Amino acid sequence: MYDSIVCPNNCSVQLSRGLLEEHLEYSCPLRKEKCEFCKLEFSGDTMENHRGACPMEVTWCENKCGARLQRRFLNNHMKSECHKRTAPCHYCHKEFVFETLQDHYYQCPRFLVMCPNRCDPLKIPREELEKHVLNDCPSAHIPCVFKDAGCKYMCPRFHLDKHLEDATKLHLSLLGRLVVDQDSMIKALTQQIRTLSHVTDGTFIWKIPAIKSKLSEAKSKPNVELKSDLFYTSRYGYCLRASVFLNGNGSGEDTHMSLYIRMVSGEYDTLLDWPFRQPISFQLLDQCSDPEKRQTITESFTPNPAWKQFQQPNMDSDSMGFGYPKFINLEMLRAGTYIRDDSLYVKIVVDTGSTKNNNVLKDRHVLADRNILLNSVAEHRNIKLETNKYIIQK
Ligand SMILES: [Zn+2]
Ligand SMILES: [Zn+2]
Ligand SMILES: [Zn+2]
Ligand SMILES: [Zn+2]
Ligand SMILES: [Zn+2]
Ligand SMILES: [Zn+2]
Repeated sequence: MYDSIVCPNNCSVQLSRGLLEEHLEYSCPLRKEKCEFCKLEFSGDTMENHRGACPMEVTWCENKCGARLQRRFLNNHMKSECHKRTAPCHYCHKEFVFETLQDHYYQCPRFLVMCPNRCDPLKIPREELEKHVLNDCPSAHIPCVFKDAGCKYMCPRFHLDKHLEDATKLHLSLLGRLVVDQDSMIKALTQQIRTLSHVTDGTFIWKIPAIKSKLSEAKSKPNVELKSDLFYTSRYGYCLRASVFLNGNGSGEDTHMSLYIRMVSGEYDTLLDWPFRQPISFQLLDQCSDPEKRQTITESFTPNPAWKQFQQPNMDSDSMGFGYPKFINLEMLRAGTYIRDDSLYVKIVVDTGSTKNNNVLKDRHVLADRNILLNSVAEHRNIKLETNKYIIQK
């Protein structure tokens, strides 16, 4: 290695003479180099660090905003001048590119906007404005709280208390009317529910509770008619109602219990065939605990198409009833086991399947013809026809 020499900068590197020039120029850590931007001199190794960090070097803004400036100004530019810098929204505190911030303000949910009613507070975060106007704005025009009862008054919210004080009488009378309206609506709905719950397959059992007190009441007050709930002979069928006079009426007065049926105007009358001609049977159920000993009382008839009682009923007036003034003798009623637990059961069966089977019904027709046509309660007393009555022995 006789050809090797020591670097004249005393960097302690030994190298061959041929490489010296390149060493001094580029790699000697102790070489002297001048920065082209700040014109300062650096030794080789400190220059490595200075390069790319010279504060005087002109560079592109790192946000790619297109600006060129000396590195020493870069920090400040990117923090507070660059239009591509990120900056927080003053209202919602989310970060945005500075130049889009203005657009964001048009949508920012927290941006303060003016209440359209110019109330106090004047400015409200955008996302709260609707709720403010609807619920809180003292200047918003709102309807009186009795609007649903019919009060048409509207005023700024702050004025409402005064109106409520002034209009107490009006509000009270409106509420009164509302109560009456709702009451009749409830009655109508109750009636509808009752109608629906009394859709039958043609068989309806009517329980009459508290029968003992009703019997003695009937004795002291003539012509008290107990009416059953309405019932339908099928889902879209005829609507009927049974009724009893516990102390009898017409020819059965004071001696018998009378039992009648009448057509009631129903929801589907216009779709049905008239007159009504399905056979009907009445049964007074025997509640004897031994089924073998039960003596159910049954009466049946088939409506004659000529009878007024079974024409399409009128919506407005009660139709006439048809039935048996002497359905059961009162002594027999009391002596038997028809009354148990102070209740009586009347079963009505409408033979929905045999409307057209006239032959079978012929003799029952005769039977029914001998019974009473019940025109009105007032006329019952004059009716003297006898009813046919028999007991089915099981
Ligand atoms: Zn060197
Ligand atoms: Zn420099
Ligand atoms: Zn920039
Ligand atoms: Zn915002
Ligand atoms: Zn407001
Ligand atoms: Zn009002």
